[in-house]
Amino acid sequence: MIIDLHRHTWSFYQRYPQASEIASKNPGKLDPVHAQSDPLPLVPDWKEAALDHINELDESGVDATVIFVADYGLRLGEPTFTIEGENRLSAEMGRAYPNRLIPFFGIDPRRNNAVDAFERAVTDWNMKGLKIHTTVGFFPHDRVVYPFYEICVARNLPVTFHSGPMPSPLVSRYAQPLHFDEVAADFPELTIIMGHAGRAAWPEALNIAQMKPNIYLELSTWQAHFDYPEDAIKAIYRMCQTIGVERVLWGSDNPGWRHAMPLKKWVSTIQDLPVTGKKFGCDFTTSDTEAILGKNAARILGLK
Ligand SMILES: [Zn+2]
Repeated sequence: MIIDLHRHTWSFYQRYPQASEIASKNPGKLDPVHAQSDPLPLVPDWKEAALDHINELDESGVDATVIFVADYGLRLGEPTFTIEGENRLSAEMGRAYPNRLIPFFGIDPRRNNAVDAFERAVTDWNMKGLKIHTTVGFFPHDRVVYPFYEICVARNLPVTFHSGPMPSPLVSRYAQPLHFDEVAADFPELTIIMGHAGRAAWPEALNIAQMKPNIYLELSTWQAHFDYPEDAIKAIYRMCQTIGVERVLWGSDNPGWRHAMPLKKWVSTIQDLPVTGKKFGCDFTTSDTEAILGKNAARILGLK
């Protein structure tokens, strides 16, 4: 079973057209393709978006994917559609494709009535986890987030965080791997998924995860790390050796990251590790790659 643990209902620039302008000024290779994508219509077409996800999964041999929205509204200005509405549409997608599109609830915990909205999402909308993006201006260990963790623990739901840097006007220090440590200490039963494994700050992410067995490292956006295959392969191997392959997870961060590598190739890049790893002294087995690509995710999500 192959499960993408990190996917957005819509791409960032579709939701926040105001961010495109900032991205277009960035001289690096931030995301030029999606910076030009059309903004979402006033009421987004969730059926079309759901089908787009399903087609990509089918094409790539991926069985299921988590989907969510990241809530940047309090920092970037409100998205084209309301955040409550977007979450509701994620839930609708999950209802239309059960066990294939698995919706997490994405919210800025500082919003009014956010805890109640999360409670409703898991109770009435059947949402399966929480997505938190702290680079809008709060730390994972800020007490405003704690009631959300309590709900996750009580219902055995995982929480996915962005970890590592983000472009302006988002603020990277809020997602520095170190800042997940206190959450892990205060909620030892909470399943903490560090999305992107800290990106280039992965050694710090690994360092924290080594001490906190409830932290998982998730490899979405690592498609780009494979521009330097030796570094990427050795890093993933080091993660597996240090915290165990059971805590290394796979995801894409599509549709926003489609330009980096087709999903099908991202699957085969992991499947090929037992062969490609050999060149660099990394001894992956097929059972390791199966664990990374889906077995671990299935366990976390309670899928059979
Ligand atoms: Zn993401």
